[in-house]
Amino acid sequence: MAKVKEIFDYTKDELGEMLAAKGVKPYRTKQIFSWLHAKGARSFDDMTDIPKDLRVSLAADHSIGALSIETVQKSKLDGTRKYLFRLYDGGLIEGVFMEYRDWNTVCISSQVGCAMGCRLCASTVKGCERDMTAGEMALEIYEMERDAGKRISNVVVMGSGEPLLNYENLMRFTDIITDSDGKGISQRNITVSTCGIVPAIERLAGEKLHGDHLQINLAISLHAATDEKRRKLMPVAKKYDLKQLMGAADRYYDSTHRRLTFEYALIEGENDSEGDAKELARLLKGKNALLNLIPVNPVTESGLKRPDRRKCEAFKNKLENFGINGSIRRELGSDIDGACGQLRMRSTAEISRMRV
Ligand code: SF4
Repeated sequence: MAKVKEIFDYTKDELGEMLAAKGVKPYRTKQIFSWLHAKGARSFDDMTDIPKDLRVSLAADHSIGALSIETVQKSKLDGTRKYLFRLYDGGLIEGVFMEYRDWNTVCISSQVGCAMGCRLCASTVKGCERDMTAGEMALEIYEMERDAGKRISNVVVMGSGEPLLNYENLMRFTDIITDSDGKGISQRNITVSTCGIVPAIERLAGEKLHGDHLQINLAISLHAATDEKRRKLMPVAKKYDLKQLMGAADRYYDSTHRRLTFEYALIEGENDSEGDAKELARLLKGKNALLNLIPVNPVTESGLKRPDRRKCEAFKNKLENFGINGSIRRELGSDIDGACGQLRMRSTAEISRMRV
């Protein structure tokens, strides 16, 4: 049987082309796109103002909304919800809903697993199974919004996967969720996190969406301020050194004028000394950038240790002495599951145990 296309994967333009090929009038494009991306349709029959014969024709060669919530963990402390989603082929991915005072943010995944091998991350332990499609990424947002019953205005692509290795789908996803006939999320409220794929950052710097320069935010995982240390934590650093990475980051800033974010996971005894603070300050000096200091989540496989609060504060103060401000990331949902990626790992392990 021919593989059916997932209707959530189309941008509005692509949807229009598909409908035109079926001989459907152009005004139907906006109607159907809105049903999918603004009005929560999960079956063709939900589209009550679309003629029955068109719904039947669409259902014949499309799947619709092939992503479901497997489990939800809800924090009693702060409204954080952690989701495990199941994809049409059984793949499992995670998403997190976070409530702030004035807005709600979700963190979504972009690949099933990850091939990048960062030592501090549980998502990579089993490698990358596949790229996620644009529609799957969008559906993570819609399902979390529906389940939490709260409007989502901000999106960070920081869950499992290296989004810049799934570049085409990431661009299509950006097109879909920013469309004013759909969710209409502002590009400026979307942050894409990368471990530092230099050619893709360069490409992103020249990227346009409907003729205008891209305006999404870029967060770069540094985790160490020298090549030697970085190579020990992140295999990607063997391919692209810090000079190349910082050069690409500068070009992204120059072309978009979006403030960059650098992520630095604090790991006891590895990257939290005075010397590390000095190197980091040297690297970031003069940049219009935010620095997030993230006490590392202990991942059993890596043996990395999380510094206590006092040590994190001490590192932050050392950085300040060298002229750089960083903020220690607020921990949300600390009463629910631990590190990102572990929910999926545990479930995969449980499921495979069940299958034995
Ligand atoms: S930190 Fe990000 S890029 Fe690195 S292995 Fe984990 S998911 Fe992949």
